[in-house]
Amino acid sequence: MIKVENLSKKYKENSKLALDDVSFELQKGEFAALLGPNGAGKTTLINVISGVVVRDSGNVSIAGYNIDQNRVEMKTAIGIVPQEIAVDNFFTVREILNLQSGYYGMRNNSDYIAYIAERLSLADKMNSVVRSLSGGMKRRLLIAKALLHKPKILILDEPTAGVDINLRHDLYRFVKEMNGEGMTILLTTHYLEEAEELCSRILLIDEGRLIADKPKKEFLKMAGDFLIVKLSVNFDMSKIIDSSMIRENKGINKILEVPKNKIPELISSLNQIKEKIDDLNISSPGVEELFVRLTEKGGRN
Ligand code: ADP
Repeated sequence: MIKVENLSKKYKENSKLALDDVSFELQKGEFAALLGPNGAGKTTLINVISGVVVRDSGNVSIAGYNIDQNRVEMKTAIGIVPQEIAVDNFFTVREILNLQSGYYGMRNNSDYIAYIAERLSLADKMNSVVRSLSGGMKRRLLIAKALLHKPKILILDEPTAGVDINLRHDLYRFVKEMNGEGMTILLTTHYLEEAEELCSRILLIDEGRLIADKPKKEFLKMAGDFLIVKLSVNFDMSKIIDSSMIRENKGINKILEVPKNKIPELISSLNQIKEKIDDLNISSPGVEELFVRLTEKGGRN
């Protein structure tokens, strides 16, 4: 559904590459997360895929359509939910959705508009002017707009940035349903738990390079050899364990990254200071820990 080959992009002569030889493919029905720190190249990648930013080199095809030869078909295949809420404040929700249908040449789209509005819990806002909507409602409107032409691929750029927890879960449910109905989804996010909860595939980008592209399960398995130990203890842990295992050391709260084969040793060390321990939690690493590990400069990989 999305095929990106050797994509590179530099905004200015002599600046560093915003995208550096990025290649990946998404199959129909996949739900992939595009993760990466600020400035990693996520928006650039989405903008190149959607034809908003011109690449320097490489190829993109969407639903089998080449970005250079079949622009109209390609644009029709994608729905994009942008990060910025830029909709005309003075129109009503219904007017915006009608206009958007018009852009795609879809007349008499009112049944589908009603259907999408219902599914996004926008139905009772159809006659409200956009200006009067809450931030969360505006976001639903952006998603509705992106879906009106029935795209096969949905690209969401940080859909839940600044959105409250209830709405976030509503949106999760909705995009999961869309994915369950066969839609291919690419989502950029800062919320790592979002990637963990929703996606089957993780693409990790850093400094314009794709540094990991794996099914989520495999991605999490990359961490198979260590555990995360969180503990509250009023004690200098470097006195009893190898300090390279200490990931964070904020007051009494410590986070340790411990190779599995060192766990018995750790437990006997902790036993020596057990009366100083207020809290202890041992877990498998999540996307977040892996993210830190993989993007860490000069890391221990
Ligand atoms: P992300 O979305 O992961 O935060 P971006 O794709 O926005 O990353 O940015 C990637 C790199 O390209 C950054 O170094 C950023 O400063 C640069 N960049 C992004 N947009 C522009 C632009 N319009 N002009 C010049 N540089 C840009």
